[in-house]
Amino acid sequence: APRILSGMQPTHDSLHLGNYLGAQVNWVRMQADFDAFFCVVDQHALTVGPEPEELRRRTRVTAAQYIAGGVDPEKSTVFVQSHVPEHSQLAWVLNCITGYGEAARMTQFKDKSGKRGAEGTNVGLFTYPMLMAADILLYDTSVVPVGEDQRQHLELTRDLAGRFNARYGDTFRIPEAHIPGETAKIMSLQEPTAKMSKSADNQAGNLMMLDEPKVNTKKVKSAVTDTDNAVRFDAEAKPGIANLLRIHAALSGDSIETLVERYAGENKYGALKGDVAELVIQVQAPFKARVDELIGDPAELDRVLAAGAERAREVAAATLARAYDAVGFLPGA
Ligand code: ATP
Ligand code: MG
Repeated sequence: APRILSGMQPTHDSLHLGNYLGAQVNWVRMQADFDAFFCVVDQHALTVGPEPEELRRRTRVTAAQYIAGGVDPEKSTVFVQSHVPEHSQLAWVLNCITGYGEAARMTQFKDKSGKRGAEGTNVGLFTYPMLMAADILLYDTSVVPVGEDQRQHLELTRDLAGRFNARYGDTFRIPEAHIPGETAKIMSLQEPTAKMSKSADNQAGNLMMLDEPKVNTKKVKSAVTDTDNAVRFDAEAKPGIANLLRIHAALSGDSIETLVERYAGENKYGALKGDVAELVIQVQAPFKARVDELIGDPAELDRVLAAGAERAREVAAATLARAYDAVGFLPGA
């Protein structure tokens, strides 16, 4: 079967609803038809300087959330990036075919380095997209299910694969991005023009999958909207309401049209928010319960990750060997 690969950074103790709706729902849907690889990208997370204990804990809890959200480790390969050294080995090779200016144009780097300032910005944040390209290309990946914010990195990955193949001979499969429609960019509830983000300064805008239900209910009820008082779908003029409608539609399965009809009339923001809060709790409560169970047995979780790493390494080592040979590295002993 053709392959898919995707990952999340263990940069927080919990995923948020954007990670879940923008990426994970598609992972789970696609794992039936694809040979799926889901990676906890701890090397990417190192770019924001976590405490070692924090990174260890978050790496396990992120893996647990993959499984709690429906990834089946019997069907899909679930592994940790740093367990497969081929990722950083291939990243070096890709660094050497990436233009400096090309990397400097990446908006994620510009956003994150802008926020962190010169002092807080390390070179790893800059070379992040080439490591991500390595993550993908090592598995001969056909499709990469991600949110809208990763579109530019996917384009770079395709460019690098094409460039490598043209220069050194056919080595990498050129992957396609799979970006969902309405849920590709779930916005912050406090700042509905910015995406929900694990590393956002203002966590009040994020619906975290592992928060207590009452915390999320409160966040939904205090979501920033507008004073126009009519529920309409207008992402430009009414980004807060549009975001709530998208979340509702994704979780309930109702179309946005149906919802706009349902909440027609004056003063329906409260009703919309109440229903969204209810829908969020319905997914996150069982999700959280399952994560608690999985985390309660870290030995079993580590066993799953070790088996995943072994399977991932088989594929990754073969691709790396091809790439090393293509660029002219001498065969090792
Ligand atoms: P960080 O702030 O640490 O970068 P993040 O919230 O952006 O965290 P990532 O681990 O970088 O999450 O991304 C994991 C996956 O979730 C990616 O596929 C990404 O495109 C997707 N994603 C992230 N935020 C959103 C969002 N707000 N809406 C939809 N998809 C999202
Ligand atoms: Mg991110």
